[in-house]
Amino acid sequence: MPNQRQRALDIVQNRTTDRVNAPSDKISDFFADDVFTMDKMKATLAPDTFKNVQAAIDKGRKIDVETANQIASAVKTWALSKGITHYTHWFQPLTGSTAEKHDSFFDAQKGVEVLKGSALIQQEPDASSFPNGGIRSTFEARGYTAWDPSSPIFIWGRTLCIPTIFVSYTGEALDYKAPLLKAVEAVDKAATKVCQLFDRNVNRVSASLGCEQEYFVIDRALYNARPDLVMAGRTVFGHHPARGQQLDDHYFGSIPSRVYNYMKDFEIECLKLGIPVSTRHNEVAPSQFEVAPLFGDINVATDHNSLMMDVMDRVAERHSLKILFHEKPFAGLNGSGKHNNWSLITSTGVNVFQPSSSARENLQFLTFLVNTIKAIHENAGLLRASIASAGNDHRLGANEAPPAIMSVFLGSELTAVLDELENNGNLKVDKGDNMYMKLGIDKIPEIILDNTDRNRTSPFAFTGNKFEFRAVGSDQNVAEPMTVLNLIMAKQLREFYKTVSERTDKGEDKKIAIANVLRDYIKSSKAVRFEGDGYSQDWADEAEKRGLPNVKDAARALDAYVSKESKATFEEFGVMTALELEARNEIQLENYIMKLQIEARLISEMGMTQVLPAAMQYQNKLMDNARGLGEFGMDNSHIKTILEKLNRHINTIQTQVVEMNKERGEINKIEDTRDRAIAYCDRMKTKYFDVIREAVDKLELLLNDEDWPLLKYREMLFLR
Ligand code: ADP
Ligand code: MG
Repeated sequence: MPNQRQRALDIVQNRTTDRVNAPSDKISDFFADDVFTMDKMKATLAPDTFKNVQAAIDKGRKIDVETANQIASAVKTWALSKGITHYTHWFQPLTGSTAEKHDSFFDAQKGVEVLKGSALIQQEPDASSFPNGGIRSTFEARGYTAWDPSSPIFIWGRTLCIPTIFVSYTGEALDYKAPLLKAVEAVDKAATKVCQLFDRNVNRVSASLGCEQEYFVIDRALYNARPDLVMAGRTVFGHHPARGQQLDDHYFGSIPSRVYNYMKDFEIECLKLGIPVSTRHNEVAPSQFEVAPLFGDINVATDHNSLMMDVMDRVAERHSLKILFHEKPFAGLNGSGKHNNWSLITSTGVNVFQPSSSARENLQFLTFLVNTIKAIHENAGLLRASIASAGNDHRLGANEAPPAIMSVFLGSELTAVLDELENNGNLKVDKGDNMYMKLGIDKIPEIILDNTDRNRTSPFAFTGNKFEFRAVGSDQNVAEPMTVLNLIMAKQLREFYKTVSERTDKGEDKKIAIANVLRDYIKSSKAVRFEGDGYSQDWADEAEKRGLPNVKDAARALDAYVSKESKATFEEFGVMTALELEARNEIQLENYIMKLQIEARLISEMGMTQVLPAAMQYQNKLMDNARGLGEFGMDNSHIKTILEKLNRHINTIQTQVVEMNKERGEINKIEDTRDRAIAYCDRMKTKYFDVIREAVDKLELLLNDEDWPLLKYREMLFLR
């Protein structure tokens, strides 16, 4: 009987691919077709109503019932015209995906389709199944969803989706969006004040985000034949292929046609949803790819990323493909991240991270640059916590991934600028054909801005006109790291403003005061700046000397969220309460435990029921062979050698699995969640997973290919 592996391979041999055609050659013909855009709102709403909506979006004003009713009615009319019969409040619960509860527009009593303003604004999903970290049991609170007018309503599938936040009746956030909106508001306030030091006309600063999403694509039949991929999203066994990514020939190579058609298909769906996907290319590992939309408002970009992942997943079904968003689906190959390109843009249209020829803007540029470095230095632990997950643990510090040490890369030119400012406040002129950067103090002449120098090993890099947070995991909701980043920036900018004000109150010239505070910051945050190879052991040693935290596992990294200091920061800026932080910490630890628990079970089950039987069968064949050779009086010592090796690995797997399961039983009894998570990390993952894996992977190289039960890496990664 052919095993599952062979059946899957047969299916893949016979796959064909259909060409995908866009609705029109011109993207503008269908872009945002399925979005209730501001333009559509303007066209359908009374002018006063539209003004109210705009104020709600721009200034966070409340929407009154009458306005809500009119918007609801307009949205409903639009949806019905597109054949849509149901609507849902769309939100991002802490489970890590998106959630919906569908309601019909049809009102059976009245016999017509309706959408009331109240239904647009607020809904009660059945929240009992979403994680809440004990909040609900403590407060007996039920949750409700509330419309977020700053993210546009869209149609996805056959449903009208209304972006919402998800909170408990006692006000605790139960989702990712609510804290993000608060952090964005906090950074707006703090950054606006700082910008007004340079330009009185600035009345708002918005955070922007552009996410580069990495992912692996594999055939659905192959995916289904690997229980570990199905259950854990990553392979717990599998020997590296003979040809891995050593040749790096996949990067920027041509995209296989099946994948190309899939990409085209999901990009069309994204464009219809107003997600401005723009670049696509191969990544470093075989079968790994990347998609990056054009950056935009952070709240919308965050929603777009969640929605895009959902779109990618569903469109893949049509192509008999499966998308792996896990941070490390295949050991030994590049993992997947989600580079978060982040910047702050003023209401006057200035990107504060864009060096320019205007002197005033350049002092502002330096101010924001240095404050960002300072914020990362002061809050490295929190930033690390914001990207902590069981999946990302496999990636941080691994092949082609930034280390768990939070450091900032600036490039040599900017480093020189800061060094200069640190030492004497005077800046040197460097001639070259790059862009020139004038700095806003008379004594500071021009320097070259270097935006080509890229260091791929840095977790937090300045890339010309934005910062790129590269340590974010591919499967993560980016709202979490973006909440933390904007929060620590708000805190830092507020501190900066206060210090500068104290100095100017004492009569110091404003520009001089700014330069002096920046100089202090450059000195005190210097340890976090690193320009070298972030993947090297030298850096880990050096970072330790500098006192930078290097927390390698999520179980411990998450502590930073619930420290006294962190709670104070979150509460001070109204982003989250201590209770919410505790609840989230609990959810994340539980999640971490659950993931490792599933992996331990998989290792045990696949090891015992798939790998061992195959290995023992092969042992029997070899023993028959050895016996036969013996009967003929021939040398069978080489067979004995193989048999011994087989036996050693079989023995390892058997004994280790038994011990692992026994120890897991003990760990499960540990009451405290954090202690249990750490035990899962140290006494499960670190102690057993790799040992068992190594024995299994060795067997993969010893057994006859035909009898090996699991799809091999080369089969999953190189089949087209
Ligand atoms: P790379 O792979 O070289 O880092 P990409 O072009 O793949 O670059 O991705 C860059 C991302 O950064 C895109 O999503 C782009 O829209 C975004 N981006 C560009 N400028 C800004 C900015 N000022 N703020 C935020 N994101 C930006
Ligand atoms: Mg990048």
